[in-house]
Amino acid sequence: MAKRDYYEVLGVHQNASEAEIKKAYRRLAVKHHPDKNPDDKVAEEKFKELSEAYVVLADNQKRATYDQFGHAGVDGSGGGGFSSGGFGGSPFEDIFGDIFGDIFTGGGGSRRGRGQRGDDLRYNLDISFEDAAFGTETEIKLPRHHSCEACGGSGAKAGTSPETCPTCNGVGQVRYQQGFFQMTRPCPDCAGTGSKIKHPCPECRGTGRVKEKRNLSLRIPAGVETGTRLKLSGEGESGIHGGPPGDLYVVITVASHPIFRRDGRNVICETPLSFIQATLGCELEVPTLDGRVKIKVPAGTQSGKILKLAGKGIPDLQGYRRGDQLVVLRVETPTKLTSRQKELLEEFAREGGEEVNPIGKGFFEKVKEMFD
Ligand SMILES: [Zn+2]
Ligand SMILES: [Zn+2]
Repeated sequence: MAKRDYYEVLGVHQNASEAEIKKAYRRLAVKHHPDKNPDDKVAEEKFKELSEAYVVLADNQKRATYDQFGHAGVDGSGGGGFSSGGFGGSPFEDIFGDIFGDIFTGGGGSRRGRGQRGDDLRYNLDISFEDAAFGTETEIKLPRHHSCEACGGSGAKAGTSPETCPTCNGVGQVRYQQGFFQMTRPCPDCAGTGSKIKHPCPECRGTGRVKEKRNLSLRIPAGVETGTRLKLSGEGESGIHGGPPGDLYVVITVASHPIFRRDGRNVICETPLSFIQATLGCELEVPTLDGRVKIKVPAGTQSGKILKLAGKGIPDLQGYRRGDQLVVLRVETPTKLTSRQKELLEEFAREGGEEVNPIGKGFFEKVKEMFD
């Protein structure tokens, strides 16, 4: 797909001032931010496009190059690309942090410096139907990296410290020539960190992070359903070289129930009853999430009739209101009859004539009208 013009992406004029560009980006970024549009691929693409345009237009030098040479001038500059997967790409995070502070992330302030943000983690959690309805507390074991305590996350053996990288003089980036352009890319010698570790920490072998299994208490709110995503800020992988941690996303799968089905906040329960119960009316005991409840089935109830038990459903996630339970009555046709029962039914039919089937009567009259 051809790239859109960066000015067009931000909806600003070619002569727009820095302030105008920043303002336009801010407005659009708030609109298309992934936190506001979860699982929306279009918004995600828009947001990436937006950020990419902003990376270039907010930087006077890149903007000048772009003005002169278009996309070809700024592609691969190391400043505008995105890491695949997630929203953890560094240019993205940097701009984002600079402009918005912690409005969205709620995380700690320091996004600057060389520290790299830790990866987001996803944890799939299976819970029961009842736990989804009422909420629960559970503990999960989360394998993740965390900052090495032996070296304080620096990666350098205790008593030593990382040294300035001689290749990039601590800048973390090196310049190189591509055609007409001076480009920069992360320093290959120190992987963009700007420092080199001469004596690696033996605990973490110089990475500054160790793997652990951590127990994490989780409160699952009432009303979650399959696909609900709970975000736990800062509970993802720890950052590299002092960067902020990523976030943890717990994705819920609710088990199916042998008796209940769910439709949003409503609980559906199919309940069988005999044709005699349905004909004469009866009192039925039906299961609900809160225990057994007695309901009155009126005489002459047809199969498929739905009786509503108000407030016996599932609360919405905000916890304000509970849905209803819908009891769907299924009238059963008897299959094993004794000869005496058959006799009685035949007699019953003779006694009632056509009135035995009130709905069928109307139906067959319509069929007659249709063909006559
Ligand atoms: Zn260490
Ligand atoms: Zn370096």
